Amino acid sequence: MTEKRPFGILPDGKQAYLYTIRSGALTAEITDFGAAPVSLVISGRDPVDVVLGLDDAGAYARDDGYFGALIGRFATRIEQGAFTLNGKQYQTGKNEGENNLHSGPDGYHQRLWTFVPEESGADHLKLKLESPDGDQGFPGNAEISITYQVTDGGSFRLLYEGICDQDTPMNLTSHTYFNLNGHDAGDVLAHRVKIPALYYTPVKDAGCIPTGEIASVQGTAFDFTEEKEIGAEIDGDCEQLQMTGGYDHNYVITMSRSGLRTALEAYSARTGLHMTVETDLPGFHFYTGNNLTRRPGKGGCVYDRRGGFCVETQYFPNSVNVPAFPSPILRAGEKYRAETVFRFARRESRCCHSKPFVNK
Ligand code: BGC
Repeated sequence: MTEKRPFGILPDGKQAYLYTIRSGALTAEITDFGAAPVSLVISGRDPVDVVLGLDDAGAYARDDGYFGALIGRFATRIEQGAFTLNGKQYQTGKNEGENNLHSGPDGYHQRLWTFVPEESGADHLKLKLESPDGDQGFPGNAEISITYQVTDGGSFRLLYEGICDQDTPMNLTSHTYFNLNGHDAGDVLAHRVKIPALYYTPVKDAGCIPTGEIASVQGTAFDFTEEKEIGAEIDGDCEQLQMTGGYDHNYVITMSRSGLRTALEAYSARTGLHMTVETDLPGFHFYTGNNLTRRPGKGGCVYDRRGGFCVETQYFPNSVNVPAFPSPILRAGEKYRAETVFRFARRESRCCHSKPFVNK
Protein backbone atom coordinates (compact mmCIF):
# COMPACT_ATOMS: atom_id res chain seq x y z
CA MET A 1 0.00 0.00 0.00
CA THR A 2 1.25 3.46 -0.87
CA GLU A 3 0.87 6.06 1.89
CA LYS A 4 -1.34 8.94 0.78
CA ARG A 5 -2.53 12.20 2.29
CA PRO A 6 -4.36 15.30 1.03
CA PHE A 7 -2.10 17.96 -0.52
CA GLY A 8 -4.52 20.80 -1.06
CA ILE A 9 -7.38 21.79 -3.32
CA LEU A 10 -6.60 22.98 -6.86
CA PRO A 11 -8.07 26.13 -8.41
CA ASP A 12 -10.64 23.94 -10.25
CA GLY A 13 -11.81 22.47 -6.92
CA LYS A 14 -10.13 19.09 -7.36
CA GLN A 15 -8.31 17.42 -4.47
CA ALA A 16 -4.58 16.74 -4.89
CA TYR A 17 -2.70 14.11 -2.91
CA LEU A 18 0.80 13.54 -1.63
CA TYR A 19 2.13 9.98 -1.81
CA THR A 20 5.04 8.65 0.24
CA ILE A 21 7.28 5.79 -0.86
CA ARG A 22 10.21 4.49 1.16
CA SER A 23 12.93 1.89 1.09
CA GLY A 24 16.27 1.65 2.87
CA ALA A 25 17.71 5.12 3.36
CA LEU A 26 15.33 6.88 0.95
CA THR A 27 11.89 8.41 1.53
CA ALA A 28 10.26 10.26 -1.35
CA GLU A 29 7.08 12.30 -1.35
CA ILE A 30 5.39 12.83 -4.71
CA THR A 31 2.25 14.75 -5.57
CA ASP A 32 -0.22 13.70 -8.22
CA PHE A 33 -0.43 17.36 -9.26
CA GLY A 34 2.20 17.50 -11.97
CA ALA A 35 3.55 14.09 -10.86
CA ALA A 36 6.20 16.10 -9.02
CA PRO A 37 8.60 14.81 -6.38
CA VAL A 38 8.15 17.21 -3.42
CA SER A 39 10.89 15.82 -1.19
CA LEU A 40 13.54 13.14 -1.14
CA VAL A 41 15.04 12.50 2.28
CA ILE A 42 18.25 10.53 2.67
CA SER A 43 18.35 9.18 6.23
CA GLY A 44 21.47 8.91 8.37
CA ARG A 45 22.84 10.72 11.41
CA ASP A 46 21.80 13.97 9.76
CA PRO A 47 18.92 13.29 7.37
CA VAL A 48 19.04 15.50 4.28
CA ASP A 49 16.14 16.44 2.02
CA VAL A 50 17.83 16.95 -1.34
CA VAL A 51 14.82 18.03 -3.44
CA LEU A 52 13.37 21.54 -3.67
CA GLY A 53 9.60 21.63 -3.30
CA LEU A 54 6.53 23.64 -2.39
CA ASP A 55 4.00 23.36 0.43
CA ASP A 56 0.86 22.27 -1.36
CA ALA A 57 -0.69 21.73 -4.79
CA GLY A 58 -2.01 25.30 -4.87
CA ALA A 59 1.56 26.59 -4.58
CA TYR A 60 2.60 24.32 -7.48
CA ALA A 61 -0.32 25.63 -9.57
CA ARG A 62 0.79 29.26 -8.99
CA ASP A 63 4.53 28.80 -9.36
CA ASP A 64 6.55 29.21 -12.58
CA GLY A 65 9.76 27.50 -11.43
CA TYR A 66 8.87 24.00 -12.70
CA PHE A 67 9.69 22.46 -9.29
CA GLY A 68 9.79 18.67 -9.74
CA ALA A 69 7.78 19.12 -12.91
CA LEU A 70 7.13 16.09 -15.07
CA ILE A 71 7.57 17.71 -18.47
CA GLY A 72 5.78 16.52 -21.59
CA ARG A 73 4.97 15.96 -24.34
CA PHE A 74 8.25 17.61 -25.31
CA ALA A 75 10.95 18.66 -22.83
CA THR A 76 12.99 21.87 -23.09
CA ARG A 77 12.50 23.74 -26.36
CA ILE A 78 10.92 23.78 -29.82
CA GLU A 79 12.02 26.65 -32.04
CA GLN A 80 9.07 28.84 -33.01
CA GLY A 81 6.95 26.13 -31.34
CA ALA A 82 6.64 24.55 -34.80
CA PHE A 83 7.64 21.29 -36.45
CA THR A 84 6.77 19.14 -39.46
CA LEU A 85 6.00 15.46 -39.10
CA ASN A 86 5.00 13.11 -41.96
CA GLY A 87 4.62 16.16 -44.20
CA LYS A 88 2.19 17.92 -41.88
CA GLN A 89 2.95 21.11 -39.98
CA TYR A 90 2.19 21.39 -36.29
CA GLN A 91 2.13 24.50 -34.12
CA THR A 92 2.53 24.34 -30.35
CA GLY A 93 2.20 27.24 -27.90
CA LYS A 94 4.82 29.98 -27.74
CA ASN A 95 5.44 30.62 -24.07
CA GLU A 96 9.03 31.87 -24.16
CA GLY A 97 9.30 34.65 -26.68
CA GLU A 98 8.80 33.03 -30.08
CA ASN A 99 9.66 29.55 -28.80
CA ASN A 100 8.01 26.71 -26.93
CA LEU A 101 9.46 25.92 -23.50
CA HIS A 102 8.55 22.63 -21.80
CA SER A 103 5.54 22.09 -24.08
CA GLY A 104 3.96 25.50 -23.70
CA PRO A 105 1.43 27.09 -21.38
CA ASP A 106 -0.51 23.88 -20.72
CA GLY A 107 2.25 21.55 -19.56
CA TYR A 108 1.70 18.11 -18.10
CA HIS A 109 3.19 19.49 -14.88
CA GLN A 110 0.05 21.61 -14.46
CA ARG A 111 -2.31 18.62 -14.57
CA LEU A 112 -3.68 16.24 -12.01
CA TRP A 113 -2.28 12.79 -12.78
CA THR A 114 -4.16 9.57 -11.96
CA PHE A 115 -2.88 7.24 -9.27
CA VAL A 116 -2.58 3.61 -10.43
CA PRO A 117 -3.02 1.64 -7.16
CA GLU A 118 -2.58 -1.81 -8.70
CA GLU A 119 0.90 -0.83 -9.92
CA SER A 120 1.99 1.04 -6.80
CA GLY A 121 3.23 -0.15 -3.42
CA ALA A 122 5.22 0.86 -0.33
CA ASP A 123 8.33 1.62 -2.39
CA HIS A 124 6.90 2.54 -5.80
CA LEU A 125 4.23 4.76 -7.26
CA LYS A 126 2.71 4.84 -10.70
CA LEU A 127 0.85 7.89 -12.02
CA LYS A 128 -0.71 8.13 -15.46
CA LEU A 129 -2.02 10.81 -17.77
CA GLU A 130 -4.13 10.81 -20.91
CA SER A 131 -3.11 13.41 -23.47
CA PRO A 132 -5.67 13.63 -26.30
CA ASP A 133 -5.01 14.21 -30.00
CA GLY A 134 -4.16 17.89 -30.51
CA ASP A 135 -3.22 18.42 -26.86
CA GLN A 136 -0.67 21.28 -26.73
CA GLY A 137 -0.64 21.08 -30.54
CA PHE A 138 0.83 17.54 -30.69
CA PRO A 139 -0.66 14.74 -32.80
CA GLY A 140 -2.27 11.59 -31.45
CA ASN A 141 -3.99 10.29 -28.36
CA ALA A 142 -1.18 9.46 -25.95
CA GLU A 143 -1.24 7.46 -22.75
CA ILE A 144 1.67 8.34 -20.54
CA SER A 145 2.86 7.12 -17.18
CA ILE A 146 5.66 7.66 -14.72
CA THR A 147 6.70 5.14 -12.09
CA TYR A 148 8.83 6.38 -9.23
CA GLN A 149 10.66 3.80 -7.17
CA VAL A 150 13.05 3.96 -4.23
CA THR A 151 15.36 1.01 -3.62
CA ASP A 152 17.33 -0.44 -0.71
CA GLY A 153 20.49 0.29 -2.66
CA GLY A 154 19.87 4.06 -2.45
CA SER A 155 18.34 4.64 -5.89
CA PHE A 156 15.47 6.90 -6.88
CA ARG A 157 14.32 5.44 -10.18
CA LEU A 158 12.08 7.04 -12.80
CA LEU A 159 10.48 4.89 -15.46
CA TYR A 160 8.65 6.79 -18.21
CA GLU A 161 6.25 4.87 -20.42
CA GLY A 162 3.95 5.94 -23.20
CA ILE A 163 2.05 4.92 -26.27
CA CYS A 164 0.28 6.97 -28.93
CA ASP A 165 -2.11 6.13 -31.77
CA GLN A 166 -0.27 8.46 -34.20
CA ASP A 167 3.38 9.27 -34.76
CA THR A 168 4.31 11.99 -32.29
CA PRO A 169 7.29 13.67 -30.68
CA MET A 170 7.69 12.14 -27.22
CA ASN A 171 10.28 13.59 -24.90
CA LEU A 172 9.47 13.33 -21.21
CA THR A 173 11.70 14.59 -18.43
CA SER A 174 11.78 15.51 -14.78
CA HIS A 175 12.62 19.07 -13.81
CA THR A 176 13.50 18.16 -10.22
CA TYR A 177 15.92 20.58 -8.57
CA PHE A 178 18.55 18.92 -6.37
CA ASN A 179 20.70 20.43 -3.67
CA LEU A 180 22.89 17.87 -1.90
CA ASN A 181 23.59 20.37 0.89
CA GLY A 182 19.88 20.29 1.69
CA HIS A 183 16.97 21.74 -0.28
CA ASP A 184 17.08 25.02 1.69
CA ALA A 185 20.84 25.38 2.02
CA GLY A 186 21.56 28.15 -0.47
CA ASP A 187 23.30 27.92 -3.82
CA VAL A 188 24.81 24.80 -5.36
CA LEU A 189 27.98 26.40 -6.71
CA ALA A 190 30.32 24.45 -4.41
CA HIS A 191 28.94 21.07 -5.49
CA ARG A 192 31.62 19.05 -7.23
CA VAL A 193 30.40 17.65 -10.51
CA LYS A 194 31.74 15.13 -12.99
CA ILE A 195 30.22 14.68 -16.45
CA PRO A 196 31.74 12.01 -18.71
CA ALA A 197 30.19 13.51 -21.87
CA LEU A 198 32.72 14.80 -24.38
CA TYR A 199 30.19 16.83 -26.37
CA TYR A 200 27.38 19.29 -25.78
CA THR A 201 24.98 21.23 -27.98
CA PRO A 202 25.80 24.96 -28.04
CA VAL A 203 22.90 27.40 -28.28
CA LYS A 204 22.21 30.29 -30.67
CA ASP A 205 21.47 32.92 -28.04
CA ALA A 206 19.71 33.52 -24.73
CA GLY A 207 16.67 31.71 -26.16
CA CYS A 208 18.60 28.45 -25.65
CA ILE A 209 17.77 26.95 -29.06
CA PRO A 210 20.70 24.72 -30.14
CA THR A 211 22.71 25.80 -33.18
CA GLY A 212 22.55 22.16 -34.36
CA GLU A 213 26.26 21.71 -33.81
CA ILE A 214 27.70 18.92 -31.67
CA ALA A 215 30.64 20.67 -30.03
CA SER A 216 33.54 19.32 -28.02
CA VAL A 217 33.68 20.30 -24.35
CA GLN A 218 37.46 20.11 -24.41
CA GLY A 219 39.13 23.31 -23.27
CA THR A 220 35.80 24.95 -22.44
CA ALA A 221 33.84 25.66 -19.27
CA PHE A 222 31.59 22.74 -20.27
CA ASP A 223 34.37 20.25 -19.61
CA PHE A 224 33.50 18.35 -16.42
CA THR A 225 35.33 15.17 -17.43
CA GLU A 226 37.53 15.88 -14.41
CA GLU A 227 35.49 16.63 -11.29
CA LYS A 228 35.18 20.37 -10.61
CA GLU A 229 32.91 22.76 -8.76
CA ILE A 230 29.76 23.90 -10.56
CA GLY A 231 30.81 27.45 -9.78
CA ALA A 232 34.39 27.10 -11.05
CA GLU A 233 33.76 28.74 -14.44
CA ILE A 234 30.06 29.53 -14.39
CA ASP A 235 30.53 33.30 -14.30
CA GLY A 236 33.70 33.41 -16.37
CA ASP A 237 34.28 34.60 -19.90
CA CYS A 238 32.58 31.68 -21.70
CA GLU A 239 30.22 33.31 -24.17
CA GLN A 240 27.77 30.39 -24.13
CA LEU A 241 27.40 30.66 -20.36
CA GLN A 242 27.18 34.44 -20.45
CA MET A 243 24.25 34.23 -22.88
CA THR A 244 22.28 31.85 -20.70
CA GLY A 245 23.37 33.11 -17.26
CA GLY A 246 24.99 29.80 -16.34
CA TYR A 247 24.68 26.18 -17.40
CA ASP A 248 21.44 25.72 -19.34
CA HIS A 249 22.70 23.32 -22.00
CA ASN A 250 22.24 19.82 -23.31
CA TYR A 251 25.09 17.33 -22.95
CA VAL A 252 25.42 14.53 -25.50
CA ILE A 253 25.58 11.16 -23.75
CA THR A 254 25.21 9.12 -26.92
CA MET A 255 23.82 9.55 -30.43
CA SER A 256 21.83 6.31 -30.21
CA ARG A 257 19.79 4.87 -27.39
CA SER A 258 21.12 1.84 -25.54
CA GLY A 259 21.40 0.81 -21.90
CA LEU A 260 21.91 2.99 -18.84
CA ARG A 261 24.92 5.28 -18.94
CA THR A 262 26.24 7.77 -16.43
CA ALA A 263 25.09 11.29 -17.20
CA LEU A 264 26.49 13.13 -14.21
CA GLU A 265 27.90 12.69 -10.72
CA ALA A 266 27.62 15.33 -8.02
CA TYR A 267 29.11 15.55 -4.55
CA SER A 268 28.59 17.82 -1.58
CA ALA A 269 31.53 18.04 0.80
CA ARG A 270 29.19 19.61 3.35
CA THR A 271 26.94 16.55 3.73
CA GLY A 272 29.13 13.89 2.16
CA LEU A 273 26.27 13.04 -0.19
CA HIS A 274 27.09 11.77 -3.63
CA MET A 275 24.58 11.42 -6.45
CA THR A 276 25.06 9.52 -9.70
CA VAL A 277 22.55 10.06 -12.49
CA GLU A 278 22.15 7.31 -15.08
CA THR A 279 19.86 7.24 -18.07
CA ASP A 280 19.20 5.36 -21.28
CA LEU A 281 18.26 8.61 -23.05
CA PRO A 282 20.73 10.27 -25.44
CA GLY A 283 21.16 13.57 -23.59
CA PHE A 284 20.50 15.62 -20.54
CA HIS A 285 19.96 19.27 -19.83
CA PHE A 286 22.28 20.57 -17.14
CA TYR A 287 20.44 23.53 -15.66
CA THR A 288 21.90 25.38 -12.70
CA GLY A 289 18.78 27.27 -11.65
CA ASN A 290 20.00 30.53 -13.19
CA ASN A 291 16.46 31.78 -13.78
CA LEU A 292 15.15 30.78 -10.37
CA THR A 293 14.20 34.01 -8.64
CA ARG A 294 13.79 34.49 -4.89
CA ARG A 295 10.56 32.85 -3.71
CA PRO A 296 9.04 30.92 -0.80
CA GLY A 297 9.73 27.20 -0.71
CA LYS A 298 8.29 24.43 1.43
CA GLY A 299 8.21 24.72 5.22
CA GLY A 300 8.77 28.47 5.25
CA CYS A 301 12.18 28.40 3.57
CA VAL A 302 13.27 30.71 0.77
CA TYR A 303 14.74 29.54 -2.54
CA ASP A 304 16.90 31.80 -4.64
CA ARG A 305 18.95 31.85 -7.82
CA ARG A 306 21.05 28.70 -8.33
CA GLY A 307 19.53 27.14 -5.23
CA GLY A 308 19.26 23.81 -7.04
CA PHE A 309 20.42 22.10 -10.20
CA CYS A 310 18.44 19.93 -12.61
CA VAL A 311 19.61 16.96 -14.64
CA GLU A 312 16.84 16.78 -17.23
CA THR A 313 17.47 13.57 -19.15
CA GLN A 314 16.04 13.93 -22.62
CA TYR A 315 16.16 13.87 -26.40
CA PHE A 316 18.04 17.00 -27.40
CA PRO A 317 16.26 20.38 -27.33
CA ASN A 318 14.53 21.19 -30.62
CA SER A 319 15.47 17.71 -31.90
CA VAL A 320 12.08 17.66 -33.56
CA ASN A 321 13.56 20.16 -36.06
CA VAL A 322 17.16 18.94 -36.32
CA PRO A 323 17.54 15.75 -38.39
CA ALA A 324 21.16 15.32 -37.25
CA PHE A 325 20.02 14.87 -33.63
CA PRO A 326 18.66 11.52 -32.34
CA SER A 327 15.00 11.39 -33.35
CA PRO A 328 12.43 12.01 -30.61
CA ILE A 329 9.60 10.59 -32.73
CA LEU A 330 7.55 7.79 -31.22
CA ARG A 331 5.87 5.77 -33.95
CA ALA A 332 2.15 4.98 -33.72
CA GLY A 333 1.49 1.96 -31.52
CA GLU A 334 5.12 1.62 -30.42
CA LYS A 335 5.95 1.70 -26.73
CA TYR A 336 7.94 4.57 -25.32
CA ARG A 337 10.14 3.54 -22.43
CA ALA A 338 12.88 5.56 -20.81
CA GLU A 339 14.64 5.17 -17.53
CA THR A 340 16.57 7.56 -15.32
CA VAL A 341 18.14 6.60 -12.01
CA PHE A 342 19.36 8.97 -9.31
CA ARG A 343 21.66 6.91 -7.08
CA PHE A 344 22.74 8.21 -3.68
CA ALA A 345 25.62 7.31 -1.41
CA ARG A 346 27.51 8.95 1.41
CA ARG A 347 31.22 9.24 1.12
CA GLU A 348 34.05 10.94 2.94
CA SER A 349 36.55 11.10 0.11
CA ARG A 350 36.44 13.83 -2.53
CA CYS A 351 37.09 11.46 -5.39
CA CYS A 352 34.15 10.62 -7.65
CA HIS A 353 35.48 7.07 -8.14
CA SER A 354 35.13 5.77 -4.56
CA LYS A 355 31.51 5.47 -3.61
CA PRO A 356 30.94 3.45 -0.49
CA PHE A 357 27.26 2.97 0.14
CA VAL A 358 26.13 3.70 3.69
CA ASN A 359 22.44 3.52 3.27
CA LYS A 360 20.98 2.20 6.46
C1 BGC B 1 15.35 25.61 -19.03
C2 BGC B 1 15.61 26.97 -18.44
C3 BGC B 1 14.33 27.41 -17.81
C4 BGC B 1 13.94 26.41 -16.77
C5 BGC B 1 12.62 26.74 -16.15
C6 BGC B 1 15.07 24.68 -17.90
O1 BGC B 1 14.90 23.38 -18.37
O2 BGC B 1 16.34 25.16 -19.88
O3 BGC B 1 16.05 27.90 -19.41
O4 BGC B 1 14.44 28.69 -17.25
O5 BGC B 1 13.88 25.12 -17.30
O6 BGC B 1 12.63 26.42 -14.82
